[in-house]
Amino acid sequence: MKVEVAVVGNGVAATACATRLARHGIRPLLIGPGLPVDRPPLTKAALVDGKPRLLADEERLAERGIDRLHALVVDAELDEGRLRAEWGAEAWEVEADRIVLAPGLLYARPPIPGFEDALVNADPHVFERLAALICAGPVEVLVVGAGLIGTETAATLAQAGHRVTLVDLLERPLHRLHDPLPALARATLDDLGVRFLGGVRIEKGGERAVETARHGTLAADVVLVATGGVPLLPPGLAPGEVELPLAVGPNMQVPGHPRAYACGDLVLVPHARFGPLRFPHWDAAIGTGEQAADAVAGVAAPYERVPYWWSDIGPRRLAEVGVAAQAAAWAEEGGLHVGRDEQGEPVCVLVVDEPRRLREARALVQEGGGA
Ligand SMILES: Cc1cc2nc3c(=O)[nH]c(=O)nc-3n(C[C@H](O)[C@H](O)[C@H](O)COP(=O)(O)OP(=O)(O)OC[C@H]3O[C@@H](n4cnc5c(N)ncnc54)[C@H](O)[C@@H]3O)c2cc1C
Repeated sequence: MKVEVAVVGNGVAATACATRLARHGIRPLLIGPGLPVDRPPLTKAALVDGKPRLLADEERLAERGIDRLHALVVDAELDEGRLRAEWGAEAWEVEADRIVLAPGLLYARPPIPGFEDALVNADPHVFERLAALICAGPVEVLVVGAGLIGTETAATLAQAGHRVTLVDLLERPLHRLHDPLPALARATLDDLGVRFLGGVRIEKGGERAVETARHGTLAADVVLVATGGVPLLPPGLAPGEVELPLAVGPNMQVPGHPRAYACGDLVLVPHARFGPLRFPHWDAAIGTGEQAADAVAGVAAPYERVPYWWSDIGPRRLAEVGVAAQAAAWAEEGGLHVGRDEQGEPVCVLVVDEPRRLREARALVQEGGGA
């Protein structure tokens, strides 16, 4: 089949890219398994009612002018604009003028014996298995990994009436985030009745129990793994020897491959203010997806969207605007936690439970960049 633009992937970035391409009057082909599923609800509302949220159904895609192929891309010749997609015994050869790569992250199971078939709460297909286990009534759940996904998952499940234990190798939930977020997450988990165990090394995994050095056997009805993801580029899709995340140009082009673009969790973006930036969060997936579509349509502009993520830990809404890693000093300013760089310019603002102040936080960070 011949198309103008093929978008590899059907997650947040791919759908944003395809939607924007259609607005530019370009009819894209979205290639991925099933309908596009949104990710954030998998640790929030969908975990309560067992229903994943679609980014668009068949009808919406058609209305927007987006074609869809239910398949996985297994091979690509980026410079020739050729893709091979497969699903079961079926296979398709796709010829495209331009290709946009948006396959997201690989949420791999940790290399611990017994975790070969573990439930990973990040993938919509695995989610179906999980939903069947937790939606029939309260169960005991052990969540492994207290990053954003694991901590949210534990809090949501506890709020929904399940008995939850959350374990991590590190001593605090959200340990890698800036203060006060780890302490705040810990207090919220305590309030919700989640048992948090830090400093836990798992020696053997399992579907209903794990073996640990510090606490012996921890048993549950369901063991869930939330140990994070790594950028994914199946070998057949990689443009030669590449390092991941894939460093793209300002317009999301894959360097050295003029027909190819990339976006979403896969990429390292040259941000106009913050420099090379890896930002695997929802808003950046939309921003880079739209930027790739604009570039395909011939609209060139620097990538300057202010980085932003949010997380719902039970009743609490945490948000970060800007880049925490670039802050040299932090101070509380009018109820916001503001991080400033060596020059004293605001580079990051943490907003806790005050979504209405996000605009203010964004303006502060933008002002720091001289915008
Ligand atoms: C459970 C969960 C909760 C999250 N919650 C938040 C949140 O609260 N706030 C926030 O800011 N961010 C959140 N995020 C992060 C955010 O959702 C991601 O940054 C965003 O989804 C990345 O978009 P993406 O399109 O790059 O990848 P994804 O949305 O993961 O989509 C990638 C898609 O590509 C498909 N694919 C992979 N390989 C191939 C192939 N070879 N051929 C065809 N298709 C392929 C996959 O099946 C998948 O559908 C969350 C992520 C997860 C997983």
